[in-house]
Amino acid sequence: MKITRYNGVEPQLQKRHQLIPAILNSLEEIVWSASAQTYKLLYINRAAEKVFGRTLAELYDQPNIWQLMIHPDDRQRVEQVFETLGERGNQAVEYRIVRPNGEVRWIHNRVCAIADIQGRVIRIDGIATDTTKGKQAEAQLCTESDLLQGIMQTSVAAITVVDTQGNIIFANARSQQVLGLTQSELVERHYNSPTWKITDFQGGPFPEEQLPFRQVMATGQPVFDVQHGIEWADGTRKYLSINGAPLKDADGVITRIVFSISDITHRQKVEEQLLYDALYDKLTKLPNRTLFMERVDHALKLAKRNQDYLFAVLFLDLDRFKIVNDSLGHDVGDQLLIATARKLEKCLRTTDTVAHLGGDEFTILLEDIKDIKDATRVAERIQVTLKSPFNLNNHEVFTSASIGIALSSTGYERTEDILRDADIAMYRAKELGKARHEIFDKIMHAQTLKLLTLENDLRRSLERQEFEVYYQPITSLVTGTLTGFEALVRWRHPERGLVSPVEFISVAEDTGLIIPLGEWVLYEACRQLRMWQTQFPTPEPLKISVNLSGKQIKEPDLIGQIDHILEKTGLDGRFLKLEITESVLMENAETVTKMLLQLRARDIQLSVDDFGTGYSSLSYLHRFPVNTLKIDRSFVSQMNHKSRNAEIIRTIITLAHSLRMDVIAEGVETLEQLTELKLLNCEQGQGYLFSKPLTKSEAGLLLVRLPQW
Ligand code: C2E
Ligand code: CA
Ligand code: CA
Repeated sequence: MKITRYNGVEPQLQKRHQLIPAILNSLEEIVWSASAQTYKLLYINRAAEKVFGRTLAELYDQPNIWQLMIHPDDRQRVEQVFETLGERGNQAVEYRIVRPNGEVRWIHNRVCAIADIQGRVIRIDGIATDTTKGKQAEAQLCTESDLLQGIMQTSVAAITVVDTQGNIIFANARSQQVLGLTQSELVERHYNSPTWKITDFQGGPFPEEQLPFRQVMATGQPVFDVQHGIEWADGTRKYLSINGAPLKDADGVITRIVFSISDITHRQKVEEQLLYDALYDKLTKLPNRTLFMERVDHALKLAKRNQDYLFAVLFLDLDRFKIVNDSLGHDVGDQLLIATARKLEKCLRTTDTVAHLGGDEFTILLEDIKDIKDATRVAERIQVTLKSPFNLNNHEVFTSASIGIALSSTGYERTEDILRDADIAMYRAKELGKARHEIFDKIMHAQTLKLLTLENDLRRSLERQEFEVYYQPITSLVTGTLTGFEALVRWRHPERGLVSPVEFISVAEDTGLIIPLGEWVLYEACRQLRMWQTQFPTPEPLKISVNLSGKQIKEPDLIGQIDHILEKTGLDGRFLKLEITESVLMENAETVTKMLLQLRARDIQLSVDDFGTGYSSLSYLHRFPVNTLKIDRSFVSQMNHKSRNAEIIRTIITLAHSLRMDVIAEGVETLEQLTELKLLNCEQGQGYLFSKPLTKSEAGLLLVRLPQW
């Protein structure tokens, strides 16, 4: 039995001896044992081969475990653990190993010290696992969460995460500032039904369905830059730009929404300021012309749609502003404008608009009035209000206004037209004695219309060749012979007949038509004179005077045009005289001088027209290369009775001669005038006494009758 037992046990034991290495070798974990004295490996299982990348034989060959099995940087730390093992018993240590190919792996090692009967540590046993993968994942996790943390912390935007009910489940620190709520307050809020008031930028309540939360939940799509105004109980207002994106689970169901919210209050304020600057007058803080025109435009649209809708535009100009400005200074002038603005506002309903157009001009839009009386009543109220003196810088300043009124019932198409008519009516009020109002009426309307028609007709007249040049003879007062002509344009209007240049030249200047017209007159006159010169030769060749408008002088290519005309007509520049009025000469002194010098170089003659009516800057005259002064008709017509005019003419003539210029007297109508002018040594004369302006055939006849040489 004993034997049997023994026999029975022995094979089992043997089997066990084989079993243990087999089990050990089948483990994924590394099982090892090393001497505590030499740290030489005593045992290691097969799992080590895979982890260390060495065969078991190679591993057993190591003089100690440090050499190739532990990363040199970790050795000290591991050694310390091993050396203190006796006191602590079981320990875990994690360290790196280096594989022959240089690859580094992490090992997690649970180690324990094995002591002999005396308690001396003789062995260290351990079970190790390869934790490299876990380590890497951990490292990645760590950087991702660091990154996220960093973003959350440094973001200038509030970042919040809400659940599908709209409860805030996360908010970064910045949220407190942006949303103006403490962390604990924040958590109580719902994005779904915000307890703070969300309004849109116009200040009205924000429609609930447009709340970003609702939008994201409804569409499952992100929202970008939804702009909200949020108002707190204390009235402070912030503008927010909200971006939101849903987070979805694997089935695409929304689980959370992330919001990023920026405070755009500052940006919004800057934009508002820019808009304000573009639409309001800095000085008076009233709407400017742009905004006013916008409002009138809007009213005009309403009136076009609705027959009963009536509005009025008032054009207001302060009567004595220039005097105040010049005598008391710009500061007081500015104050007067500001004070006037405030007074005007008081005269109006809140729905009306008063604007400052600039200078001392204001405009008022009275919307939705019953009849014209509503407008005149406002005008009267303004007059009364302005009557009480302003106290500006301790000066009592009195002012009044001239007001023009235009009514929408006139049937306007364009905004500018109604403003223009109110302006015309305002001028009428000024003409009629100021401090009053005038309504733009039929007569004013007719006058404007006439001007407009004239303008339109004029545009077409050139191509239709409705212009004609008349020629008024210029006579030498010394010899009594004809010296030349002044070319004077005439407009043969298909319905109105001959129209005086007094009526249309200024319109032609305003419309720019004077440029082609002037060029045509110049060409026509030169061509005609050249023909007469060859047909009717005189000992002293005839000259032609052509009027140049201020607009033409400013044409950069004027000289080129003249050169071209002279070349084409074959006229010598010596026989062309250009007339420029005194005021044009003085107002454009620099351009004109340059141009005149160029004309001089071509031997073209120059006359100062209407002399005496301008600034009379006699002292200036010598600066201009001028040949002739034409004394204005107004002096000549009144020189009869030994008046002051005769003295003036004498002075002009003396001056002209001292500057080596000759003189032509305009508008000579009587023999008396002629005699007087001769006595004053005036060289030439022009006027009805000699001849009215003649058509070219009439002028031709005159030339035929001239004594032939
Ligand atoms: P202006 O250059 O002073 O021309 C003289 C004006 O006085 C002419 O009027 C002429 O008909 C008028 N006149 C001449 N003698 C007498 C007289 O004895 N008594 C009276 N009461 N009037 C006399 P017109 O032709 O109506 O021209 C008026 C103005 O129109 C001209 O004044 C000139 O400034 C302008 N004008 C005429 N033709 C042209 C032109 O071709 N180009 C330009 N730019 N302006 C022109
Ligand atoms: Ca003239
Ligand atoms: Ca003249």
